[in-house]
Amino acid sequence: MILVTGGAGYIGSHTVRELRSRGADVVVYDNLVTGHIEAVGSAPFVKGDIFDKELLVKTFAEYKVDSVVHFAAYSLVGESMSDPAKYYRNNVAGTLSLLDAMLEAGVKYLVFSSSAATYGDTGDGLITEDSPQRPTSVYGQTKLMMEQFMSDYDKAYGMRYVALRYFNAAGAHVSGEIGEAHKPESHLIPIILQAALGQRSHIGIFGDDYPTRDGTCIRDYIHITDLADAHIRALDYLKNGGKSTYYNLGNGEGFSVKEVIETARRVTGIDIPARVEGRRPGDPATLVASSEKIKRELGWKPRFDSLDEIVASAWKWHSTHPHGFEK
Ligand code: UDP
Repeated sequence: MILVTGGAGYIGSHTVRELRSRGADVVVYDNLVTGHIEAVGSAPFVKGDIFDKELLVKTFAEYKVDSVVHFAAYSLVGESMSDPAKYYRNNVAGTLSLLDAMLEAGVKYLVFSSSAATYGDTGDGLITEDSPQRPTSVYGQTKLMMEQFMSDYDKAYGMRYVALRYFNAAGAHVSGEIGEAHKPESHLIPIILQAALGQRSHIGIFGDDYPTRDGTCIRDYIHITDLADAHIRALDYLKNGGKSTYYNLGNGEGFSVKEVIETARRVTGIDIPARVEGRRPGDPATLVASSEKIKRELGWKPRFDSLDEIVASAWKWHSTHPHGFEK
């Protein structure tokens, strides 16, 4: 049995779907602060906080859990700069509580959502797993600290983990039944699509004076179902005796904020208004992944490798669920 923390959230819920569609037994553990119960579907669900070590230990025993996929975290770069306490407390201290519960219950395998934000500004080239990790945001710093804990827990207690360093998760499940729904929304593609739906007057471009081809930040967008697939491969790898490791996950191609807006205009057929605004603190200019290591070692391969397809899947969700999971 696999326990998924944050399984009611955006990436968590898509991974739960994918796991269950392949016959895995899953229990979702989420405090529903940012997650949505509607996204959990028919999976077994425990409402709980990662700080509640006692409840975690009890849940591990009750469901005979042997592995954990850990998504539960706050994940907004901008907010992490204005409220670092919230990020260190929840992401860092919360993860320690989870790891301690795992130790107590003898749960040995962990797949963990790390982030491209652990690298910070590395320049123009593709980021490999060996690129220096120098986060530019508190959010990235919290994810780096969590990776460090896991490495130390592996050495000392033999807890085995795979850290997946995601680049920009985007898109929605092909069914159109679940998708991205943050409140307030801060991510680029959903905000562009909200502007397309007329829910916002425009999309604000956060800075056009970066050292990139058109001055706007470049990111590597990866489809949520491809991310989910990587978690499943990572779990299988650990259960087959694989050693602790870490992988980048991206498409290997970067798109600027302006290019993403152009793509959305093309996909939706709507002339979405855009306006240049100031930079957002903590944003590196360019983040593009080399995902060669996970392709080579786990046979992972993105199925959604064009930005048009990714944005089209997001549009299917947003245009049919303009208020997310709210009726
Ligand atoms: N961005 C933007 N306007 C917005 C939201 C985001 O220009 O309203 C930019 C942001 O500065 C970054 C990129 O879009 O360069 C992706 O941001 P997002 O928050 O989606 O993901 P992040 O890269 O922070 O994980």
